[in-house]
Amino acid sequence: MKVLKFGGTSVGTPQRMKDVVKLITDGEQKIVVLSAMSGTTNSLIEISDYLYKKNPEGAMETINTLEQKYKKHVDELYTTDEYKKKTLEFLKQEFDYLRSFTKGIFTMFEEKIIVGQGEIMSTNMVTNYLLEQGHNATLIPALEFMRTDKNAEPDLQYIREKLKVQLEENPGKEIYITQGFICRNAYGEVDNLQRGGSDYSASLIGAAIEASEIQIWTDIDGMHNNDPRFVDKTAPVSHLHFEEAAELAYFGAKILHPTCVQPAKFAGIPVKLLNTMDPEAAGTVISNETEAKKIKAVAAKDNITAINITSSRMLLAHGFLRKVFEIFESYKTSIDMITTSEVGVSVSIDNKTNLNSIVDELKKFGRVNVDEDMCIICVVGDLEWHNVGFEAKATEALKDIPVRMISYGGSNHNISFLISADDKKRALQALSDKLFNA
Ligand code: ADP
Ligand code: ASP
Ligand code: MG
Repeated sequence: MKVLKFGGTSVGTPQRMKDVVKLITDGEQKIVVLSAMSGTTNSLIEISDYLYKKNPEGAMETINTLEQKYKKHVDELYTTDEYKKKTLEFLKQEFDYLRSFTKGIFTMFEEKIIVGQGEIMSTNMVTNYLLEQGHNATLIPALEFMRTDKNAEPDLQYIREKLKVQLEENPGKEIYITQGFICRNAYGEVDNLQRGGSDYSASLIGAAIEASEIQIWTDIDGMHNNDPRFVDKTAPVSHLHFEEAAELAYFGAKILHPTCVQPAKFAGIPVKLLNTMDPEAAGTVISNETEAKKIKAVAAKDNITAINITSSRMLLAHGFLRKVFEIFESYKTSIDMITTSEVGVSVSIDNKTNLNSIVDELKKFGRVNVDEDMCIICVVGDLEWHNVGFEAKATEALKDIPVRMISYGGSNHNISFLISADDKKRALQALSDKLFNA
């Protein structure tokens, strides 16, 4: 069985929902994972924000605006009065439920419930449309099987067992629709897999049922060789190794959520990135195979802070790096890049929550210097060190850009450059011009 995930833009308008239904009604049995309609999760977060700030009027206004959008959508999507009525009744319950949060206390538990309603609505609407059009489909609620453990990691054993029960209770369906993003935590409370987490849901479901393929359908024809939001003339990459895809997703290629790669890779299930707006386009296949000796793509990760510690006394002395890393560990702050020299070490972090405390403690070891508003530019491909010339080409492309750190050799797939955020667009374009369009 295949797993197909459709993102927010793919279900964002009545026409897009109809296009999705055309794609999933080919007679093959499948699980379809849906995101919320685009913009909905942002609105639900805005509603929660108002409620945290004890502004129920603000929340009510956002709820009412969203409700109007959904009502209009229903009118355009369904052809029969029966399904229009049925869906409007369901949505009325949903929006009344949202309105009920404007009274009473508001904590992160209520917030988690609110932000997950987008997926609940989109999946009900698409299922109703499938049923109206006479298709053999059913909805299996993600909250019945998607669960994280006490470490907030997905509980794959639980997911496997409970999903099996859901499928067995609904035998012989062509299409099983379910929600991306939402789950329960180890205590059974409603939770989610973080923003953009529907990709993760699809990958976990794929691993749980040992799917033959996981398809991530979005608004672009696969992973491009550079970020199309900032760079002219990007092109899709036909094949990526799981590890190349993981590097790109982690370092900012928004098309794929960083957590999505691991479950599929572990289960050995190929992932295809496909375009709902151009279903015939080849897209990108992510698997254990790769095109050797080639730079594939470039990505950028924002909001990076560089920290440099200089000490003539003890740097690189036995045990010194461990002490430095322990400070980051004690503040649950992970390090992205590291470079060392005889008298100093530089690291980069993307979580500034405990920056002041970390810097305070690091000062015990030497002089500390912090550079904020940086970004990591990551060049990805089959960059095994015997393949000569790749790092030279990448560095040559960035010859006019001030580079704060360079990291190469951490894996066979990545060269990273730390630069100022102001130079990001120029750096990405220079890399595309030199590496892909020369
Ligand atoms: P969805 O809502 O379907 O999950 P996303 O917005 O999360 O879609 O991801 C698709 C977007 O990712 C594209 O519209 C594109 O702007 C952006 N993107 C960033 N980097 C890349 C890249 N290297 N290749 C393709 N798309 C990218
Ligand atoms: N709807 C959620 C979000 O906007 C999850 C997803 O789209 O993947 O983040
Ligand atoms: Mg996404």
